[in-house]
Amino acid sequence: MSIISKDISKAIQLLTAEDIVAIPTETVYGLAGNIYSEKAIKSIFETKKRPFFNPLIVHIPSIDQLSDIVAYIPEKAQLLAEAFWPGPITLVLKKKAIIPDLITGGKDTVAVRVPNHPTTLELLNRLNFPLAAPSANPFSSISPTTALHVETYFKNNIRMVLDGGACTSGIESTIIGFENDEPIIYRLGSTAIEAIEAVVGKIEIKNTVTEAPKQKTIPDAPGMLARHYAPKTKTVLTENVQETLDLYKNKRIGLITFQSEINHKIIEVQIALSKSGDLEESASNLYDILHQLDNMHLDVIIAEKLPDYGLGKSINDRLTRATK
Ligand code: AMP
Ligand code: MG
Repeated sequence: MSIISKDISKAIQLLTAEDIVAIPTETVYGLAGNIYSEKAIKSIFETKKRPFFNPLIVHIPSIDQLSDIVAYIPEKAQLLAEAFWPGPITLVLKKKAIIPDLITGGKDTVAVRVPNHPTTLELLNRLNFPLAAPSANPFSSISPTTALHVETYFKNNIRMVLDGGACTSGIESTIIGFENDEPIIYRLGSTAIEAIEAVVGKIEIKNTVTEAPKQKTIPDAPGMLARHYAPKTKTVLTENVQETLDLYKNKRIGLITFQSEINHKIIEVQIALSKSGDLEESASNLYDILHQLDNMHLDVIIAEKLPDYGLGKSINDRLTRATK
């Protein structure tokens, strides 16, 4: 029997009983539980096989609940929340004592956002606690952007996926931390850096893959771990598709291009992220295309690098991590 359902009341029942439920957001599907329930939070980590040092994002229904969660809001954090919530920006701020260590990986900061999805906003409004919700996939694998992706991963582990359709943004939220009250990007994501800079001015990025710390240390934002969001199939990112294709003669190749179709007879399957060259559309298609190709038992997935601006930057970040 399918665990996919549109029944919000059932999700409320399960979550109130300290169970976990997969929920839709505009970025990716999340595996949600009551932030104040140790049982629920432990079961999120166990189900995902996520290491405990990797903290969870807290989801609240509106900016009004922010001060319940965090002890201090820098001026630029307030500006960003007002500009982008509900939406795919996560703010990492000094936590209130009430926030359990299990949520924050023992840090004194907590990551929080208001998701922009009608179903989940209704759910959050009807609950009297916030939801911790990391992506609903096993640790390191491709994030889920449809209810079916989640069911395929977890049909034997969880009782319900709340169906909210395909995720419209399609990659994870942009994570912003603060140092001396100045915002810093910890993880590129669904909100383009240019849009953020239009609100708070020039902003530093701290999460490029090359700067990512070795996995032995605890990263500032573990989304920056070099290998993350990764298919099982060997994946290669390239600026020169033709040249890379020549390196994989006699192999079963899946090709992801930005918009064009490549004429080359050795390609077994090719998919464009957006035929019209739209970066938003590319982001919303990315993970579903990776899921499709990863299920085809290919020898290699070759992905074409996108233009390095707007969401192209965030997509290139995810594709780079998929190659590690
Ligand atoms: P996910 O929910 O799997 O998309 O990832 C949540 C990510 O949020 C983590 O992997 C971290 O990168 C980031 N995060 C959550 N809490 C904190 C925190 N207190 N400090 C820094 N980064 C955080
Ligand atoms: Mg994740």
